[in-house]
Amino acid sequence: MIRINENYTKLKASYLFTDIARRVTAFVAANPTKPVIRLGIGDVTEPLPPVCIAALHAATDEMAKRETFKGYGPEQGYAFLREAVAAHDYAARGCAIEADEIFISDGSKCDCGNIQEIFSLDTRLAIPDPVYPVYIDTNVMAGRTGANVDGRYSGVTYLDSTPANGYVPAIPAVATDLIYLCFPNNPTGAVATKAQLAAWVAYAKKNQAIILFDSAYEAYIRDPAIPHSIYEIEGARDVAIEFRSFSKTAGFTGTRCAYTVVPKSLKAFDAAGKEQSVHALWNRRHTTKFNGVAYPIQKAAAAIFTPEGQQQTRALTDFYLGNAQLIRDAMAKLGLPCVGGDNAPYIWINTGRDSWEFFDLLLNKAQVVCTPGAGFGKCGEGHVRISAFNTRANVEAALARIASALK
Ligand code: PLP
Repeated sequence: MIRINENYTKLKASYLFTDIARRVTAFVAANPTKPVIRLGIGDVTEPLPPVCIAALHAATDEMAKRETFKGYGPEQGYAFLREAVAAHDYAARGCAIEADEIFISDGSKCDCGNIQEIFSLDTRLAIPDPVYPVYIDTNVMAGRTGANVDGRYSGVTYLDSTPANGYVPAIPAVATDLIYLCFPNNPTGAVATKAQLAAWVAYAKKNQAIILFDSAYEAYIRDPAIPHSIYEIEGARDVAIEFRSFSKTAGFTGTRCAYTVVPKSLKAFDAAGKEQSVHALWNRRHTTKFNGVAYPIQKAAAAIFTPEGQQQTRALTDFYLGNAQLIRDAMAKLGLPCVGGDNAPYIWINTGRDSWEFFDLLLNKAQVVCTPGAGFGKCGEGHVRISAFNTRANVEAALARIASALK
């Protein structure tokens, strides 16, 4: 008899987006003349930059001719893209990352989810709360946690992000092996300073641990003092893996391209206590289970690194940050404390009340949909996330409604 992986039965069903959809559908059915504006979406609204479209067309034409047609490419990505990433995202910021330490993929969601597979099942986890759910759920699936009790899995060290610590978790008092960090953060929009990241690197070194650093929202950083990469911290090459995505940098959520950096100096240990290369393990996993990103998509991603591409993606992120500024200003006027939105596309609002109650209030009184913080973890209670990914007209209309509903 075929048996299932029992770990899947431990997964706490995420009712967040189904609950939101259910409440919105019920509201629309009862109020068909009141159009709802969605400020809860984590997806981009603006089209791809023109350089990416031109590169997609040109690469498609190459695929049409025998002389330039491409079949399977290198699983780790074409050299033209790996080299562009190494030069622009790392060398330009003073980080010593080589092109062959960069693994091109079809998304950070897959990479964040797949990476845990190369580490042992008794790995001790440190996971933020609130959290991008992929980090925790993939470890539950693998069997690295116990049961979910009152919204938390046993066997996990949760890293609380609260108003008291400015939503940047403190270093845990206990030793852990695999530490998930995400800055700029989803859902809070908080960023970490160099000193804060340096403390995490020191902690990882001390514990012979590895940091998984998710910087999917790096392109939104505007404060020059905030690091864009964990590798801006001295010694991070020996203790950190970094995930980056073109999804929110250049509107690639539906186009799919991302990369993971695994330095060759990164080591983990086998059962005999002998050092093993994490780069070699990830290379093995990646080349065994993945066959590369489509050539036209990699060409489109590489176009981002041209001078026009840099200017166009900057204009795109500036546009969303403009939305974020309007949202922040509106919340300040209403006296609602918030973080994020200045170096991130998310604004995390401390509502001072139950997060679903606030969600219902915005829906019923302003016909605006936000995301209740409780859906991202225990520490999200009392908060809601508002996303800057929207058209300007929608943001302005939603803010005007919120202002009159809450005044
Ligand atoms: N990491 C974080 C923190 C995210 O918020 C997201 C997407 O919302 C991802 C990774 C996934 O990115 P991708 O589109 O590359 O799979």
